[in-house]
Amino acid sequence: MIRAGDVATLRDVTSTRRAAGARIGFVPTMGALHEAHLSLVDHARAASDLVVVSVFVNPLQFAPGEDFERYPRDLDADAALLAGRGVDVLFAPALDALYPQGEPVVRVVPGPPGERLCGEFRPGHFEGVLTVVAKLFNLVDPDVAVFGAKDFQQSVLIRRMVADLDFRTEVLVAPIVREPDGLALSSRNAYLAAADRRRAPALSRALGAARDAYRGGEQEAAKLRTIARGVLADAGLDPQYLELVDPDTLESLSRARPGAVLALAAYVGETRLIDNIVL
Ligand code: AMP
Repeated sequence: MIRAGDVATLRDVTSTRRAAGARIGFVPTMGALHEAHLSLVDHARAASDLVVVSVFVNPLQFAPGEDFERYPRDLDADAALLAGRGVDVLFAPALDALYPQGEPVVRVVPGPPGERLCGEFRPGHFEGVLTVVAKLFNLVDPDVAVFGAKDFQQSVLIRRMVADLDFRTEVLVAPIVREPDGLALSSRNAYLAAADRRRAPALSRALGAARDAYRGGEQEAAKLRTIARGVLADAGLDPQYLELVDPDTLESLSRARPGAVLALAAYVGETRLIDNIVL
């Protein structure tokens, strides 16, 4: 595995391999890698010849007071996991290698779908995400890029950016990887104290209960949300949002239908977790 810390090395490797006919697959991450990230690597591997993974904790997508400084970082452990999974190139730039002129002044604005769900509670977050992903797409120029369904809104906005701004990259969205008790894998799960870790599977249980009710014939969004809220309340959790939305526009739905997504965010102790399920 080649470790590239600067743009010139990255471009050198990818352009040589592209010229030789390789199809390039790309997985952007913030590191602190776990099995879900590695599943994205597997998807990228299956769809390409050269797999590039980036590890970059992007300050643009953290608001003041969020966890940018304490976000877990362990590049050597990440590199070992990626090498073990057959990744070809690890691109892990320092802050000033990706933002040599300081934080970008020109940015990618997500528009109304970026203001719903997480966007309402994390203003500027998706502008930061789309801006760094646009930069990374320009640097890596991937044929295919893989994102996880856990960050549902992010995947919708990236697809939309690719369509609206004519990136040539094909976007794949891979399924959510969960712990045996249902908790979606997340680098932030490491923040959970033991008691909170025991409560955290209530997020996926709540979504599962609503999906079961939908399968049982319940279509009213208000009823499905009440069912999910009940499961969360039993675990002492109060969601920041819990919405049934259209999977493309992210607009709230009053009635469920196939493909609709029930998405939630909740603080479990001090840690904000997200999850979603497709009906
Ligand atoms: P992050 O490092 O948290 O920015 O995540 C990098 C990529 O991994 C994003 O596309 C995430 O959606 C994806 N990802 C993180 N956790 C999961 C999970 N539990 N299942 C599927 N994809 C995930």
